[in-house]
Amino acid sequence: MGRIAYVNGRYVPHAEAAVHIEDRGYQFADGVYEVLAVYKGKLIDEPGHIERLDRSLRELRIDWPVTPRVLAVLMRETIRRNRLTDGTIYLQVTRGVASRSHPFPDDAAPALVMTVKAKDLNTLKGGIPTKVITVPDQRWARPDIKSVALLPNCLAQQQAKEAGCYEAWQVDRDGYVTEGTMSNAWIVSAKGELMTRSADGNTILNGITRLAVLDVAKAAKVKLVQRPFTVAEVKKAREAFLTSTTSFVKPVVEVDGRKVGNGEPGPITRQLGKLIAERLEAQVA
Ligand code: PMP
Repeated sequence: MGRIAYVNGRYVPHAEAAVHIEDRGYQFADGVYEVLAVYKGKLIDEPGHIERLDRSLRELRIDWPVTPRVLAVLMRETIRRNRLTDGTIYLQVTRGVASRSHPFPDDAAPALVMTVKAKDLNTLKGGIPTKVITVPDQRWARPDIKSVALLPNCLAQQQAKEAGCYEAWQVDRDGYVTEGTMSNAWIVSAKGELMTRSADGNTILNGITRLAVLDVAKAAKVKLVQRPFTVAEVKKAREAFLTSTTSFVKPVVEVDGRKVGNGEPGPITRQLGKLIAERLEAQVA
């Protein structure tokens, strides 16, 4: 964890960084967050993350804590003070501090905190193959909002960890995969079509990496359909992978203890991984 945290207008040593016990983020999970990759000292896909933060805030009717322009400056200063070159920056906005009562307070000011974490993105870019389990999706009806209310995600992620897996693919009541607990889910179907669930309908988080993969896949003329897929389709899939800001394109070679395809990262997964790594380098060039 970075040494310096940003807390409501101040840069403080991480160990001393604290918010009030009546912060509505703490009381009600009344807040949103973003995680951006920092690579070679630069923020990756900043416009997409800021646009999504704005959407999350608007959906929950939380005001911006500072203007977007000021936030851009504060993020860079947090990175600078921590001498971060490769890793992530976490930012969280809550509705603020108010005496505990469910409706929105009249006078609370939104609270902003930021922390950074060093992480070697180079090793992750390589696309280390991974395993997933499937679990029932127990989340609320608005997973499209990047809310800090992540209890179902934590429970599912713990289950994945106990099964020796990296991720849990959540499955809706109709048997369709929604997404992971911290990543979006993709397959290359038995027919060879690249598939991921559409972000229309508010059933998944519209991942920034998801959008990037859609872009590079379209440019590379990969056959693509945005529609939900079942666990049975995953079992018959040729390839599977997951995407997120910190995982990029991560091959999934086993689902619920069964090999996907021949149990190796597939050609489309590897192609998309390479294109995303190139896109990342282009952003910092
Ligand atoms: N779905 C969920 C539930 C997530 O938490 C994340 C990570 N923020 C993603 C998808 C991937 O989004 P992104 O590519 O923007 O990191």
